[in-house]
Amino acid sequence: MDPIFVWWIGEEEPDPQLVEHVRLHLARAFRRPAAIWDGEARPRHAFDPRRRQHASGVILRWLLEAGPGGGKVLGVTDRDLFIPILTYVFGEAQLGGRAAVVSTARLVEDVELVGPQLLVERLAKEAVHEIGHAFGLVHCDGEGCVMGRSPAVREVDAKSSELCAECRARLGTQGEG
Ligand SMILES: [Zn+2]
Ligand SMILES: [Zn+2]
Repeated sequence: MDPIFVWWIGEEEPDPQLVEHVRLHLARAFRRPAAIWDGEARPRHAFDPRRRQHASGVILRWLLEAGPGGGKVLGVTDRDLFIPILTYVFGEAQLGGRAAVVSTARLVEDVELVGPQLLVERLAKEAVHEIGHAFGLVHCDGEGCVMGRSPAVREVDAKSSELCAECRARLGTQGEG
């Protein structure tokens, strides 16, 4: 079974607990091995000086070239991400593809107030959501399903970190993807 690789591609020193938590959630949600991938390379060419953000689409293509040769790869960054039509995104994935990226940049809202565990939970949810897309799952309206749309942190906080029964069943029919 192809593993899911989690790669810290941020500029600051990673919080090992944060990355490890993401890894555990991915392994549990998708019932397959998840491993930490280590590499010094960073997608600095994805930085758009006009928007002062990183283009998530550029990072996805880069992950396929610079990252592991098989399985899914989730880049985790502290840089702010965008796609051209939106102000920002928490993450992006190739639907049914190999690469996904998530960012902590916008998930830190209120974390200072509530505590670091809030960031850990939000990042795990967005990681499962984006890797869900990489396994071919689309957005889901199921109660509390992690594949629910989350344009803002309020929606992230409202959903669970789990796939609903329907998404889980869909996942089963996607094969190895
Ligand atoms: Zn989505
Ligand atoms: Zn669902």
